[in-house]
Amino acid sequence: MGYENERRLAAMAVRRACRLCEAVQAELGSGDIEIKGDHSPVTVADYGAQAVIALTLRSSGSRVPVVGEESASTLRDPSAGALRSRVVTHVQAVFPDADETLILDAIDACHDPGGATGLRFALDPIDGTKGYLRREQYAVALALLEDGVPVVGALGCPALPAQHPSAAEPGVLFVGERGAGTTEEPLGGGPPRIIRVSDEADPRRAVLCESVESGHAAHDRHAAIAARLGVAVPPVRLDSQAKYGCLARGEANVYLRLPTSESYREKIWDHAAGVAVLRAAGGVATDVEGRELDFTRGRRLEANRGVIATNGRLHQAVLDAVAATAEVAAGALAERTRA
Ligand code: AMP
Ligand code: MG
Repeated sequence: MGYENERRLAAMAVRRACRLCEAVQAELGSGDIEIKGDHSPVTVADYGAQAVIALTLRSSGSRVPVVGEESASTLRDPSAGALRSRVVTHVQAVFPDADETLILDAIDACHDPGGATGLRFALDPIDGTKGYLRREQYAVALALLEDGVPVVGALGCPALPAQHPSAAEPGVLFVGERGAGTTEEPLGGGPPRIIRVSDEADPRRAVLCESVESGHAAHDRHAAIAARLGVAVPPVRLDSQAKYGCLARGEANVYLRLPTSESYREKIWDHAAGVAVLRAAGGVATDVEGRELDFTRGRRLEANRGVIATNGRLHQAVLDAVAATAEVAAGALAERTRA
């Protein structure tokens, strides 16, 4: 079965949300940012992008449930009036008839718990909020899952240069569909271009990438793995699922995401769109032990630890290097978890 309609819809929704993110970023003030219970930042744009995507899906007639990162509960608090009205203003730039109630309800409607059967969207309205605040990389990530398999991914990366002959400005949209390949197109407009992973097979020449945030992935582990592979060039650091886009278009060959704690489980919206984009471009993504990423377990990848993504040809070599460096690392990880 093809997913042509869902792919177009996801791409349109992500484009709209990217425009909102850029509009908010152009005038971002301290009142636009809030710190969540887990100490991570959330902005007017995270809420606004989730609302725009939810309303776009719904206004197209889609009844597919959405597993979204954000909820509107703090926005509903009487003390959050200023933040709330900024969200409403930005969403109304796209949906002029939407009132506050409709917008908050649209955000809260993305509360699907995930699961093993049927169709659902997984949404990260801004993946890499820290990158967004630093004016570095971030992504708007929307995936369609069928029976827990990411079959469509739309990944908007407004700050990533397009590798496109007609692109003048940064900003790219990656769209991948299982069985139909992956394209990238400039967010500023221009035709889609088919992309593929690299065919690099020599681990020593691998271009590695990793998170900017050392709290999100174990940089010291990555350095040990790079040394084991014989890679001399340090990994490229960038925020968000833009890393999957870079692999999908052959700019990097390996994305390392080794866990920083024993208890952390990856969120499905942090990977589903990127994995769909990467796989449709010929790449491979597993966890650090080579297990399939299991998107059927709810909102988190409960059965997995970390992520290893590659161009495919390098996958086994990277898994071997992960295993070979694991023993030394296990002690360090236990120590860090205790601390
Ligand atoms: P990145 O931009 O690749 O660093 O990934 C950003 C994502 O990391 C955020 O959307 C968070 O959901 C996720 N995250 C937060 N804490 C952790 C952690 N301890 N380990 C892995 N990912 C995390
Ligand atoms: Mg995220």
